[in-house]
Amino acid sequence: MVESSQPCVPGLFAADGGARVLGSRCTACGTPYFPKAASCHNPKCPGSKMEPCEFGGRGKVWSYSVADFPPPPPHKHDKPFKPYAIAVVDLDSGLRLVGQMVDPPSAMSVGAAVELVVDTLYHEEGKAFTTWKFKLA
Ligand SMILES: [Zn+2]
Repeated sequence: MVESSQPCVPGLFAADGGARVLGSRCTACGTPYFPKAASCHNPKCPGSKMEPCEFGGRGKVWSYSVADFPPPPPHKHDKPFKPYAIAVVDLDSGLRLVGQMVDPPSAMSVGAAVELVVDTLYHEEGKAFTTWKFKLA
Protein backbone atom coordinates (compact mmCIF):
# COMPACT_ATOMS: atom_id res chain seq x y z
CA MET A 1 0.00 0.00 0.00
CA VAL A 2 1.25 3.46 -0.90
CA GLU A 3 1.25 5.84 2.04
CA SER A 4 -0.86 8.92 1.46
CA SER A 5 0.97 12.20 1.87
CA GLN A 6 0.25 15.89 1.84
CA PRO A 7 2.28 19.07 2.30
CA CYS A 8 2.59 20.20 5.95
CA VAL A 9 1.84 23.73 4.68
CA PRO A 10 -0.02 24.02 1.35
CA GLY A 11 1.31 26.38 -1.33
CA LEU A 12 4.94 26.65 -0.22
CA PHE A 13 6.48 23.93 -2.37
CA ALA A 14 5.75 21.40 -5.10
CA ALA A 15 7.02 17.90 -5.75
CA ASP A 16 5.51 17.05 -9.15
CA GLY A 17 8.13 17.29 -11.89
CA GLY A 18 10.98 17.88 -9.42
CA ALA A 19 11.13 19.35 -5.92
CA ARG A 20 10.97 23.12 -5.75
CA VAL A 21 9.90 25.92 -3.43
CA LEU A 22 7.43 28.50 -4.72
CA GLY A 23 8.85 32.00 -4.32
CA SER A 24 9.20 35.19 -6.30
CA ARG A 25 11.86 37.29 -8.00
CA CYS A 26 12.16 41.05 -8.54
CA THR A 27 11.77 41.86 -12.26
CA ALA A 28 14.15 44.87 -11.93
CA CYS A 29 17.15 43.51 -9.98
CA GLY A 30 16.53 39.76 -9.98
CA THR A 31 16.65 39.33 -6.19
CA PRO A 32 15.06 35.96 -5.27
CA TYR A 33 12.58 35.60 -2.39
CA PHE A 34 11.10 32.67 -0.53
CA PRO A 35 8.39 32.76 0.68
CA LYS A 36 6.95 35.09 -1.96
CA ALA A 37 7.50 38.80 -1.29
CA ALA A 38 4.99 41.54 -2.18
CA SER A 39 7.79 43.98 -3.08
CA CYS A 40 11.58 44.07 -3.43
CA HIS A 41 13.53 44.62 -0.19
CA ASN A 42 16.85 45.39 -1.90
CA PRO A 43 17.70 48.96 -0.73
CA LYS A 44 19.63 49.64 -3.99
CA CYS A 45 16.69 48.59 -6.21
CA PRO A 46 14.15 51.16 -7.48
CA GLY A 47 11.84 48.38 -8.71
CA SER A 48 8.87 46.85 -6.98
CA LYS A 49 7.36 44.51 -9.57
CA MET A 50 7.62 40.86 -8.55
CA GLU A 51 7.03 37.71 -10.59
CA PRO A 52 6.40 34.16 -9.33
CA CYS A 53 9.55 32.04 -9.42
CA GLU A 54 10.25 28.42 -8.49
CA PHE A 55 13.57 27.39 -6.96
CA GLY A 56 14.98 23.89 -6.84
CA GLY A 57 17.87 21.81 -8.06
CA ARG A 58 21.34 21.90 -6.59
CA GLY A 59 23.30 24.12 -4.27
CA LYS A 60 26.09 24.19 -1.69
CA VAL A 61 25.91 24.12 2.11
CA TRP A 62 26.79 27.64 3.36
CA SER A 63 26.45 26.58 7.01
CA TYR A 64 24.54 24.11 9.14
CA SER A 65 23.51 23.29 12.69
CA VAL A 66 22.34 20.14 14.44
CA ALA A 67 19.04 19.89 16.32
CA ASP A 68 19.96 17.56 19.19
CA PHE A 69 16.64 17.88 21.00
CA PRO A 70 13.00 17.87 19.86
CA PRO A 71 11.61 21.23 18.72
CA PRO A 72 8.88 22.60 21.03
CA PRO A 73 5.20 22.60 19.97
CA PRO A 74 3.63 23.57 17.61
CA HIS A 75 6.46 21.85 15.67
CA LYS A 76 5.70 18.20 15.01
CA HIS A 77 8.05 15.25 14.60
CA ASP A 78 7.97 11.47 14.58
CA LYS A 79 8.82 9.70 17.83
CA PRO A 80 11.33 8.66 18.95
CA PHE A 81 13.09 11.92 18.10
CA LYS A 82 16.24 11.57 16.02
CA PRO A 83 18.75 14.45 15.87
CA TYR A 84 18.89 16.07 12.43
CA ALA A 85 20.94 18.69 10.62
CA ILE A 86 19.47 22.00 9.46
CA ALA A 87 21.38 23.48 6.52
CA VAL A 88 21.60 26.98 5.06
CA VAL A 89 22.10 26.36 1.36
CA ASP A 90 23.07 28.68 -1.49
CA LEU A 91 21.08 27.30 -4.40
CA ASP A 92 22.61 27.64 -7.87
CA SER A 93 19.55 29.78 -8.75
CA GLY A 94 20.72 32.48 -6.29
CA LEU A 95 18.33 31.81 -3.40
CA ARG A 96 19.74 31.20 0.11
CA LEU A 97 17.35 28.72 1.74
CA VAL A 98 17.16 26.98 5.12
CA GLY A 99 16.05 23.37 5.24
CA GLN A 100 16.26 20.15 7.20
CA MET A 101 18.71 17.54 5.88
CA VAL A 102 17.74 14.00 4.89
CA ASP A 103 21.28 12.81 5.65
CA PRO A 104 22.52 12.27 9.23
CA PRO A 105 24.40 15.10 11.02
CA SER A 106 27.64 13.05 10.87
CA ALA A 107 27.59 13.31 7.05
CA MET A 108 27.49 17.12 6.98
CA SER A 109 30.20 19.56 5.93
CA VAL A 110 30.29 23.19 4.86
CA GLY A 111 30.56 23.44 1.08
CA ALA A 112 28.93 20.04 0.46
CA ALA A 113 26.85 19.77 -2.73
CA VAL A 114 23.16 19.16 -2.02
CA GLU A 115 19.89 19.03 -3.91
CA LEU A 116 16.39 20.09 -2.95
CA VAL A 117 13.96 17.23 -2.31
CA VAL A 118 10.49 16.79 -0.83
CA ASP A 119 10.44 14.35 2.08
CA THR A 120 8.32 13.36 5.08
CA LEU A 121 8.52 15.68 8.08
CA TYR A 122 6.17 13.71 10.37
CA HIS A 123 3.27 11.24 10.39
CA GLU A 124 -0.17 11.94 11.82
CA GLU A 125 -3.50 10.12 11.52
CA GLY A 126 -2.01 7.61 9.08
CA LYS A 127 -0.69 10.25 6.68
CA ALA A 128 2.80 11.46 5.88
CA PHE A 129 3.17 15.25 6.05
CA THR A 130 5.89 16.51 3.73
CA THR A 131 8.19 19.51 3.47
CA TRP A 132 11.21 20.55 1.42
CA LYS A 133 14.56 19.24 2.61
CA PHE A 134 18.08 18.89 1.28
CA LYS A 135 19.94 15.72 0.39
CA LEU A 136 23.67 15.33 -0.22
CA ALA A 137 24.19 15.21 -4.00
ZN1 LIG B 1 14.64 44.56 -6.90
